[in-house]
Amino acid sequence: MTLDLRAPLREIKGIGPKRERRLAEEGVGDVGALLHHLPVRYEDRRRVTAIGEIDEEGAFTLRARLAGVRLVLRRGRRFSLVRGRAEDDSGSIPAVWFNRPYLPKQVEERCDYMLHGEVRRRAETLELRNASLEPAESALHAGRIAPVYPSLGPLGPALVRRLLTELVSEHDLGSLADPLPPELLRRRDLAPLGEALAQVHRPRSDESVEELNARRTAGHRRLIYGELFAFQLGLAVARRRAHGVDKGYRSPWSDRVERLLDEILPFRLTAAQRRVVGEIAADLARSQPMRRLLQGDVGSGKTAVALAALLTVLEGGLQAAFMVPTELLAEQHFGTLRELLGDRYGIALWTSSSADRRQRLERLASGGIDLVVGTHALLEEEVQFARLGLAVIDEQHRFGVAQRSRLGEKGGRCDLLVMTATPIPRSLTLTAYGDLDLSVIDELPPGRVPVETEVVPESERDAVYRRLAESLAAGGRGYVVFPMIQEQPEREVASLERGARRLARLLPEERTAVLHGGVPVEERSAIMHAFAHGAVRVLLATTVVEVGVDVPDANAMVIESAERFGLAQLHQLRGRVGRGEVASHCVAIHGRLTEAAERRLDAFSRLNDGFDIAEADLAIRGPGELLGTRQAGMPRFLVADAVDDAALLEAARGDARELAGSLSLQELEDSVAALGGVAPEAPARLRRS
Ligand code: ADP
Ligand code: MG
Repeated sequence: MTLDLRAPLREIKGIGPKRERRLAEEGVGDVGALLHHLPVRYEDRRRVTAIGEIDEEGAFTLRARLAGVRLVLRRGRRFSLVRGRAEDDSGSIPAVWFNRPYLPKQVEERCDYMLHGEVRRRAETLELRNASLEPAESALHAGRIAPVYPSLGPLGPALVRRLLTELVSEHDLGSLADPLPPELLRRRDLAPLGEALAQVHRPRSDESVEELNARRTAGHRRLIYGELFAFQLGLAVARRRAHGVDKGYRSPWSDRVERLLDEILPFRLTAAQRRVVGEIAADLARSQPMRRLLQGDVGSGKTAVALAALLTVLEGGLQAAFMVPTELLAEQHFGTLRELLGDRYGIALWTSSSADRRQRLERLASGGIDLVVGTHALLEEEVQFARLGLAVIDEQHRFGVAQRSRLGEKGGRCDLLVMTATPIPRSLTLTAYGDLDLSVIDELPPGRVPVETEVVPESERDAVYRRLAESLAAGGRGYVVFPMIQEQPEREVASLERGARRLARLLPEERTAVLHGGVPVEERSAIMHAFAHGAVRVLLATTVVEVGVDVPDANAMVIESAERFGLAQLHQLRGRVGRGEVASHCVAIHGRLTEAAERRLDAFSRLNDGFDIAEADLAIRGPGELLGTRQAGMPRFLVADAVDDAALLEAARGDARELAGSLSLQELEDSVAALGGVAPEAPARLRRS
């Protein structure tokens, strides 16, 4: 029988209208979707063992009769215990099942069963635990490699297995139309879809269980590639849609902009900065909107690059917006830009605590403000621009994907530059930000001395503070960062209040200041000013200083309760020092360590480069957590893994972009629909329907 992927599920034996409805609720709407519900692992049932031969623990397949199967214990609906014996001609073994209270009613004595389960030692004897069983007459997986499935809505694992096994063995999957272009299959040496599905659902007995479990068979490779290709093609469609729009203006680079930039910047751009400015300038000069991600480690000089883009747009008479994740950072960038740009343009600060809201709204909407620097307060409905030509989002990893597109929409379809200082491994960048073009600053400004990092236990805190006080007295400047402000007696976390008391014994009071989210705006600005100019020598702060804060003279960083911070966060905090040419020092003080915290701090002390840190973070936490899956818009794939399958991901991305280049938008959208791919606006859940 041939099979149609789009066929309704009720055409399959074993699925009636009721199950069909429940499955649809799980996102499984047709035969194709059911076929993409894949095994999570495989059990080797090729060798049937005689019971008399079992003398050690392990997984075994038996052909045996069952005797004395009875419910011995039941506690409510949550727990039950069934015991019995499995017997064949060579011997017998006790068997136990947890939470299968109906088993005694289902088992027939004298019937031969195929059993597969774990044999474990209990006291002096071996027993068979939680064996799956099928009558030997009709056993589908006797002598085979058996797939193990996750349950699917109302269908338990055993039923899912039976359905899929029957589906695959009773139909000719070889005749399935493959939605991937045949020349791609050839180029990448991939099996046709039907063959791949058959292999994955009903592996031949001569296959390697290890390869199946590692998702490394030819069938898996085909499915992984197909999924990544569909995803990348979806991203390509989004790019094409964005690029297909005429933004209605161009912001060409000019000699004037070049001269202005030279005049304004107190340093020469590095080669890397110049290269990415070139990439951005080329985008700005086009009639299609720019969608670009600028990646560069902490301190690599992203602000100067953003400034080049801002100048280009402002000189063309358009408005620009610069969005950052914290008020402190908004205030800092606002200050820096105002200082650098003088009164060339109308510049405004935009946070939820700035005054004159009404008046500012009007000036923005009428074009009286050229450049606005602010927090996500900029995203509010009421904020309207007269002629927004560029939106820059700094420290993108602190914002969600939705916020990024919302700012881009403010100007109809304006140019968008997003910057991130938390480099993530390339494979994840291609996934999370696959709809953006990528520019990388891979070089630090000259003269930087790597920050010396030390990780010490709390018992050495006094010595650390003494050394800090000496260095500050000798003209240094530093931060002490705490995970919390107030002391909480029952918790073993260093608090800002307590740290302030400790420092007060070592330093004159006017040399220290406290900074956190609750400090009023004016006071905060005064403190930052005094710190930047050296009147205040040390800031005792919460993580408000984590991202972006730029005081090049700061050379000391102490992180309290460092075990509380993530690796990327620690790296960001350390990035507050070592921004000038003075040698800097970072000390992480920690309390009791979990194993993961110990690995984090070890990586932190060894690694100085953001990309290395990202790889280490990935190894410790896994990709989902690394990006905060939902927040960063990481898709969850069905078979693919953005990290393990990095090579296939790159291949799929190249192929998808190439194909996209040769098709019209309509043709592209049709191909994406045929592949079951999903546009990247909603990548959190890839649906195959
Ligand atoms: P980040 O990439 O972390 O945002 P910044 O843009 O804040 O980095 O730059 C870090 C520091 O390096 C700032 O003090 C900035 O003035 C300085 N800087 C940036 N580019 C250069 C350069 N080409 N030469 C010297 N100093 C630079
Ligand atoms: Mg920055």
